[in-house]
Amino acid sequence: MPLVVQKYGGTSVGDADRIRAVADHVARTRREGKDVVVVVSAMGKTTDDLIRLADEVSSVQPPREYDMLVSAGERISTALLCMALADLGVAASSFTGSQAGIVTDTDHTKAKIVEIRATRLTEALAEGKVPVVAGFQGVSTERDVTTLGRGASDLTAVALAAVLGAAACEIYTDVTGVFSADPRVVPDAHRLGRVSFEEMLEISAAGGQVLQLRSAEFARNHHVPLQVRSSFTWEPGTWIVEEDASMEQAVVTAVIHTTSQAKVTVSGVPDRPGIAARLFRALADRSVNVDDVVQNTSVHGTTDISFTVPRTDLQTAVDVAEALSGELGATAVHSDRGVAKVSVIGAGMRSHPGVTATMFETLAGEGINIDMISTSTIRISCVVRGDDVERAVRALHGAFELA
Ligand code: ADP
Ligand code: ASP
Ligand code: MG
Repeated sequence: MPLVVQKYGGTSVGDADRIRAVADHVARTRREGKDVVVVVSAMGKTTDDLIRLADEVSSVQPPREYDMLVSAGERISTALLCMALADLGVAASSFTGSQAGIVTDTDHTKAKIVEIRATRLTEALAEGKVPVVAGFQGVSTERDVTTLGRGASDLTAVALAAVLGAAACEIYTDVTGVFSADPRVVPDAHRLGRVSFEEMLEISAAGGQVLQLRSAEFARNHHVPLQVRSSFTWEPGTWIVEEDASMEQAVVTAVIHTTSQAKVTVSGVPDRPGIAARLFRALADRSVNVDDVVQNTSVHGTTDISFTVPRTDLQTAVDVAEALSGELGATAVHSDRGVAKVSVIGAGMRSHPGVTATMFETLAGEGINIDMISTSTIRISCVVRGDDVERAVRALHGAFELA
């Protein structure tokens, strides 16, 4: 029987009715003659609630304990979904990440998968059962529970689809696919029928949360057929595919934004070799994911280095920069939580000059100041004030005629 991996996000399993609707769909998929492995997220905002609870209890959160706490949300969803399936006469067994054989490194809160020993899942399938796996978690080589980073139930699903040789990995969420912009911000955004992996990676990296970045990377590297679709309407959705010559190459495919970043500026550092290397090595050693970096041209032998990081890494980044500022000879370290980033993405950009100019003109027309700029061959990103970003997205979506 062909196997599909179906992943259901937080809203899709947000309450009892939603869980029963998901069970219905799993049962229907079985009746179509397919084997199913299900991956679930925590119900609704459970993960956020657990993190808030931890913040209320203590400012000291040992990463091992953080992972033990936040992995609990997914575990609840697995058991409830198995009960809902039992009610429909479908045999199912719940598995934590550890029980599913997802072995990770020891980098708590953002662990990397090192191996998957999926024997318990293949045994359950052989017994005619539906394995229901808790997303976002694994067990470390030190045998502690780990989590794989926010949004990483997508990664659990794609990784299981790869090792189990699934015919498809279906990511069920609360929108009908990948859109030309976040449909919550741009009501006339359109759903993309197909997106190339290259564009999807840029969309995810730019902060389009519909598909987690590492899951998109994993799917591309392991050739997992991947689809994003709705658990509310069940309509076909968006396929993420290898780019081929038949694909229409829109100049701009999507306008993506994120408000989950912050900016750090290290001012007055001497302009000599090794300074940036020292700073960014120290940040990497603390697992801080640096996104954009800007260094000004030096005036009088000193310069400012600014970089953006996920807001969740801001405190660590500031601590690292402050601890090094004496050694680097910096005059100050500033942080700014009020930034956001807007990106335009499109494979056709490679062969169409002028996208950058149109982007800057559009932002200028809105009176929006650009703080930092970064580009790849198919993406242009601008860091702007957080208060301006939704206006920027709507203006750019209109300017590139994506409606
Ligand atoms: P889940 O809990 O199912 O994993 P997420 O909240 O992680 O869902 O991702 C779905 C959300 O992503 C949507 O509700 C939508 O607001 C947001 N989103 C942002 N950018 C896009 C985009 N370009 N296309 C579709 N959804 C997007
Ligand atoms: N529940 C986790 C989170 O909120 C993982 C996921 O939903 O993918 O980040
Ligand atoms: Mg998600």
